[in-house]
Amino acid sequence: MDKLIPVLEMFLSIQGEGYWSGMPAWFIRLAGCNLNCDFCDTPTKNNPGKMMSINDILAEVGISKIYHVVITGGEPTIHKAKLAELVFALQCFGKFVAIETNGTSNIWFNPDWITVSPKPHSNVVQLCGNELKVLFLNREYVDGMHHLAEGFEHLYVQPVERDGVFLNIPDIMDFVKENPKWRVSVQLHKILVVR
Ligand code: SF4
Repeated sequence: MDKLIPVLEMFLSIQGEGYWSGMPAWFIRLAGCNLNCDFCDTPTKNNPGKMMSINDILAEVGISKIYHVVITGGEPTIHKAKLAELVFALQCFGKFVAIETNGTSNIWFNPDWITVSPKPHSNVVQLCGNELKVLFLNREYVDGMHHLAEGFEHLYVQPVERDGVFLNIPDIMDFVKENPKWRVSVQLHKILVVR
């Protein structure tokens, strides 16, 4: 029987953050998370999502001419084998599959791209990937992320956005000037006011 996976939403937009910023992409947002961050803006709490079969997802995303697929959450890795199966199925349809994770579980399967975005007070165990994306909560917090940098090809700090304003920009500028391997990632979709 086709496995079911809880989907909060599935939509076509552009990747707004990090290395692939500006790339048209499908987003598959899976329900559920193992953390409970204060600043969470994902409607995953108290929303179990809609159970969808992998075939249902393929019928929409797999046959689309859009090549890039981002699986996000919530925290997608909590779905373990079902997530691995979904990634493999999308790859069989020729898709480039990126996973966005908080890094609290190891990824043992082979997505095409791994973005780790650590969250405060959580233990990152996924120590390698393509992209490390750190929210600039404050300078002390970001300085505490240097030990993770070695395992990633691309390093980003991202300003927190509140009511349309990006916070801590002077401190972010100082940080990247002092640490030139890091780049600034802004949430392009928020600037463009697209989903
Ligand atoms: S890890 Fe992400 S989805 Fe989970 S609670 Fe934190 S911000 Fe929300």
